[in-house]
Amino acid sequence: MEKIALFGLTLTDLQEVCKDLKLPKFVAKQISDWLYKKNITSIDEMTNLSKKARELLNEKYTFGVHAPIKAQESTDGTKKYLYQAPNRNFIETVYIPDKERATLCVSSQVGCKMGCLFCVTGKQGFQAQLTPGEIVNQIRSLPEREKLTNIVYMGMGEPFDNLDNVMKSLEILTSDYGFEMSPRRITVSSIGITPALQTFLKDSNCHLAISLHTPFEDERRKLMPVENVYNLPEIMDVIRKHDFGLQRRVSFEYIMFKGVNDTPAHIKQMCKLLNGLRCRVNLIKFHAFDGSPLEGSDRQTIEYFSNKLNEKGIRSTIRASRGEDILAACGLLSTKELVKRKDIED
Ligand code: SF4
Repeated sequence: MEKIALFGLTLTDLQEVCKDLKLPKFVAKQISDWLYKKNITSIDEMTNLSKKARELLNEKYTFGVHAPIKAQESTDGTKKYLYQAPNRNFIETVYIPDKERATLCVSSQVGCKMGCLFCVTGKQGFQAQLTPGEIVNQIRSLPEREKLTNIVYMGMGEPFDNLDNVMKSLEILTSDYGFEMSPRRITVSSIGITPALQTFLKDSNCHLAISLHTPFEDERRKLMPVENVYNLPEIMDVIRKHDFGLQRRVSFEYIMFKGVNDTPAHIKQMCKLLNGLRCRVNLIKFHAFDGSPLEGSDRQTIEYFSNKLNEKGIRSTIRASRGEDILAACGLLSTKELVKRKDIED
């Protein structure tokens, strides 16, 4: 029988493990300390557990952390790490240092089933959900872990299509028994699956980023098939009804496509859509890839768009493009080809 990873289990899950193994309840907290607060990699190193407890755990469980199997570094200092997931699946994680800030862009799925027209991960299709442990391991096993200031769920996959595992990973990152990170340092980005969005807003305090890309529904439908199921008015309704308070942030991601979503009509409609909402719009350069019917807007147009939004009272920033030379930039992550390669071992 395949052993189960302890890393990625919540405190409640660990209490169930202890109950199952007839270990005292307090052992669960001892295990979570070893998993999330110390730097060990095996059950045998959990030295305050009895020898019997360690033997029982070893019979059914593994510790469950693993280092990246490959790293690539961009000329701008961005690093892309490759992690292995079960069944010869692979995921990419991107480390983006920027002065005082160091952000990690984590993946939540192997591939993605959402099929957004502008995204290479979408072209890969869906292979697997990541477990909470596989999500948190991208942080725990990162060589630069100590330098991290922010985490964004903007890597491969749609986080709200793997909601339970993403929520558990957020619990581990932010709880007292886990990594004790402030939820204000974590942003989850989604295309807006409304039932999951509601759960996320209710049960977490992390920031939200919505992939908007156009304020027009018919246009969004062409760029993002999800619009056919969960449409923009519904998403905006959920967001407008939620009290974000002063600390929690909602932002909108907007990749700029030449002649598609960068016109004055789009500026006007954006102002209408976001009127009165305390939010920020992140304008992103499109990174074209082979076979894509889309082209990126030029720098001048992006700046004009940004200035106009700011003039109209909609806070807008232009996101610096990072890691393009190693295909680590927004929308370029893909591990499709790796499954076929023989030089990467199981
Ligand atoms: Fe999936 Fe996000 Fe890419 Fe859309 S943009 S296909 S949701 S990974």
